[in-house]
Amino acid sequence: MTIEDVPTTATSPTWTERGGTPAAPGNSRLRPLGLREVTLRDGFWRQRQQTNRAKSFAHIEYWLEKAGWLGNFSAPPEQRRGREFSDTEVYKFLEALAWEYGRTRDPELARRHRAIVTRVVAAQQPDGYLNTNFGRPGQQPRYSDLEWGHELYSYGHLIQAGVAAARTFGEDELVAAAVRAADHVCDVFGPGGIVSVCGHAEIEPALAELYRVTGNRRYLEQARLFIQRRGHRTLADIEFGRSYFQDDVPVREAGSLRGHAVRAVYLAAGAVDVAVETGDTELLGAVARQWRHAVARRTYITGGIGSRHQDEAFGDDFVLPPDRAYSETCAGVGSIMLAWRLLLAQGDPRYADLIERVLFNVIATSPADDGTRFFYANTLHQRVLGAEPSADTQVPRAASTLRASWFEVSCCPTNLARTFASLAAYVATADDDGVQIHQYTPAGITTTLPDGREIGLEIETQYPADGRITIRITTTPDTPWTLSLRVPDWAAGATLDGLAITRGLVQTRRRFTAGETLVLELPVRPRFVAADDRIDSVRGQAALVRGPVVYCLESVDVPRGVDLDVLRLDPNTEPVDRDGGVVAAFRSVDFTPHDWPYQPLAAAADAGPLMRIPLRPYHRWARRGPSTMRVWMPLSSER
Ligand SMILES: [Zn+2]
Repeated sequence: MTIEDVPTTATSPTWTERGGTPAAPGNSRLRPLGLREVTLRDGFWRQRQQTNRAKSFAHIEYWLEKAGWLGNFSAPPEQRRGREFSDTEVYKFLEALAWEYGRTRDPELARRHRAIVTRVVAAQQPDGYLNTNFGRPGQQPRYSDLEWGHELYSYGHLIQAGVAAARTFGEDELVAAAVRAADHVCDVFGPGGIVSVCGHAEIEPALAELYRVTGNRRYLEQARLFIQRRGHRTLADIEFGRSYFQDDVPVREAGSLRGHAVRAVYLAAGAVDVAVETGDTELLGAVARQWRHAVARRTYITGGIGSRHQDEAFGDDFVLPPDRAYSETCAGVGSIMLAWRLLLAQGDPRYADLIERVLFNVIATSPADDGTRFFYANTLHQRVLGAEPSADTQVPRAASTLRASWFEVSCCPTNLARTFASLAAYVATADDDGVQIHQYTPAGITTTLPDGREIGLEIETQYPADGRITIRITTTPDTPWTLSLRVPDWAAGATLDGLAITRGLVQTRRRFTAGETLVLELPVRPRFVAADDRIDSVRGQAALVRGPVVYCLESVDVPRGVDLDVLRLDPNTEPVDRDGGVVAAFRSVDFTPHDWPYQPLAAAADAGPLMRIPLRPYHRWARRGPSTMRVWMPLSSER
């Protein structure tokens, strides 16, 4: 087996030289940049990326050992610990190590990666099978539980880790193991094999990505086969229905993203990969349509998805109750994977808008400042004070009301780790004629266009604290090229170099000179927003946003003795920036407690005097001890 690290074009460097990137379509409208082509500078995201490396990596490694999930690869079957998918946390951590290495070239990361890979690979069977939970004496037979067994899901993460290794370290033991596993999957589930799919999508994008790394079309064909089969009810019906694993309706016929949220977005990401590589515009169009539907009707203001706890699933249209927001952190990660692929394929800035929303309001919310505790679910309304779980305990995910060290199902910490390590990839792209900037964060960008022209940029900004973004040209050819900037959907009134621009994309094509700057001004200021009237659970309420950042009202900011439940927002008093928060005006209402909470319709209760109370970014909540919190605030009747 040889990995051909094929240059993306005749003149551009290989992915390993460019630091790798998490999704590299061979044929797309926009071309992703490598993790060494975009360098985050000091600011909001670099701080989190550094914490990820300095704290979360060690924390994750500690828990993978402590929980026995790493040890499973060498333990006898009767001593295996953890849930059926625990192998994947090791794989996602390997993926995170690879991206971090791609970015930094730190040999210490290579050493840690190699040490874990050696343990993992030792468990692979001669025919390529690798799963610590099945097929050995005393365990269930291989592929005897496609609905819940997660075997193909586990290969998916193994292969994605292999793809990350191929694009960062180059050919190594893990890449070889991923190829053996993929060959095994094709042998067993390909033509003439088992005609079914996995209960948890993930193998689909992984195989498509492995095709991109190896050039072996067999993997793409297998990914295409899995996408084609999904929805034809080859999996058994289960208590949540087949929509749970998207096996109810074929991918290209579905009207919306549905079912288990993480499964849904991983599957859709794989469908985009297959569509792009096979030129299947119908499939691409179907996924884009489902995405638009889900964003318009099934997505929280934070960008979070999933409003049903029992099956971690999307609800029906407009079922978005804030106090039942599940909004799993992993669903946020998967949502970025999907939107990123759609952005590369179609170039529509609305995909980058959603990525930004999810980054600031889901991805930034989950980890504690020290990188060792995490939210699994991300509620938008906390009614009772949570309890801080012990740092030494694996908590059942749903029981955690404050960030926890580790979970019995600990998918989110490792998913965050690989996302933070590869975060720079989402900042910008290139095409034949220039560079597109999608996310505004301090960063340096250097890349070479397919025709060999070199471009260098520095993004200088305090965003999202303020909306001034300076783009400094550091390297430019003496021929014209196009710089494309995303103007977020919320940014009505934005300007570029003082001139009014419309939302969407602003493109400047000309001959640039090194040292010149462009100044984008986005109107970052606090604004109240209301929800679509059909989201009944928040009708008559407002939320406060400031740029892409959603704010919340937290009990620790409220005057002593005042309950969040009695506060009514006065929307007529303009919210103002003050002391790192936004101050808004509230009145408190007198509740008359009743034994029966339904009483004859009456005029709204009298509203008390105005109180000014600071709101904080939602991603900052629950960092000052247990608190109650709400994003959506009922409006005062005095208006
Ligand atoms: Zn998760």
